[in-house]
Amino acid sequence: MAYDPNNIFARILRGEIPCKKVDEDAHTLSFRDINPLAPTHVLVIPKTETDKFFDLSGVYLSELLLFAQPIAHAIESAYPCNRCGMSVIGLEVPHAHLHLVPINNADDLNFTREKLKVTPEELREDQERIVSFLH
Ligand code: AMP
Repeated sequence: MAYDPNNIFARILRGEIPCKKVDEDAHTLSFRDINPLAPTHVLVIPKTETDKFFDLSGVYLSELLLFAQPIAHAIESAYPCNRCGMSVIGLEVPHAHLHLVPINNADDLNFTREKLKVTPEELREDQERIVSFLH
């Protein structure tokens, strides 16, 4: 299926809608998941028009993982957890992305669970906390 240039992450990349940015470089952007599984749940997306994660070119795929590494460490520092887990789903938003989620057990990566109810203020506080451990 053709890439939909109006999907929500493409619109975030074009600056048409806001996001709670965590970090950015030439090829990658990361921001808070708006309906998180856990506090500090972060999404990492490539700046290229690709739907499925494993259709990404080698450059984007490897850069995305290297970009995610310090963010995962910041998540582990920002929120008490056993470690930062990661997951690729993409059934809701057809733009490649990686979920970074603090976990204590495998069920913490269960995306069929009810999401947290967070206010914009809580999202912002969380974002600032992650960023403070990143730099
Ligand atoms: P999936 O495509 O199944 O991997 O899930 C997409 C994820 O994107 C979900 O966890 C949503 O909560 C999240 N999401 C959807 N819209 C936004 C948005 N505008 N800003 C941040 N996260 C979003």
